[in-house]
This record gives sequence, C-alpha cells and structure tokens, in this order.
Amino acid sequence: MRMKQIHVAKHAPEAHLVKGFLESNGIAAVVRGEFLTSGWGELPLDVCGVWIEDERQYDRAQALLVAFLNGDIAREMRSRNWRCPQCGEQQEGQFTACWKCGAPRPA
Ligand SMILES: [Zn+2]
Repeated sequence: MRMKQIHVAKHAPEAHLVKGFLESNGIAAVVRGEFLTSGWGELPLDVCGVWIEDERQYDRAQALLVAFLNGDIAREMRSRNWRCPQCGEQQEGQFTACWKCGAPRPA
C-alpha cells in the first residue's frame, strides 16, 4: 500500500479533525508534519498534512472530505441565496429585492 496526502490543514486541530472524520468512514489516515526537525531543534509548523494509508481510497476519501469541509457552508449558502423569478439572476441572502431588475424576493 502506498500513502497519499489528502489534505493540508492550517493547524493541528484541523488535521486531527480530518483524520478522525476519515477514520470514522473506514479510511485509515495519519497526520504528518506537526513538527519539523531541523538542526536547530524542533520547530512547530502551522501547516500539517493528513495522509491516507492506502492511496486506492483517495477518490472516495476526497469526495467525503469535500462534502465534510463544505457541508455547513454550502448548506448555509443554499438556504440564504435565492434566484430572481423575473430575470433569473442569482441573489445573495441579504437582498430582499433583485439588484438587477428590482423584482421583490419571492416568499
Ligand atoms: Zn431580477
């Protein structure tokens, strides 16, 4: 089996969150790069990678991860954004009327 990097986390807690999520879906994962050993001693890194142990699971792992990382944001966007029934323009949630043609937001 060959390992493959699946995610670059901004910090260790995120990396471990991703690792835990993947493992809960039956994908063995490890966190790497929390510390970089240099000649000057151990330097903590802000960036660390999450690797899956079997690269054959990469596609599935990535699909799961994208859904996981985007889920809350995407759900919120879908509930807030709306489309103008008159001109079809995409609107952001804070608008109560179409910025393009002025049609009111449908109830
Ligand atoms: Zn419109």
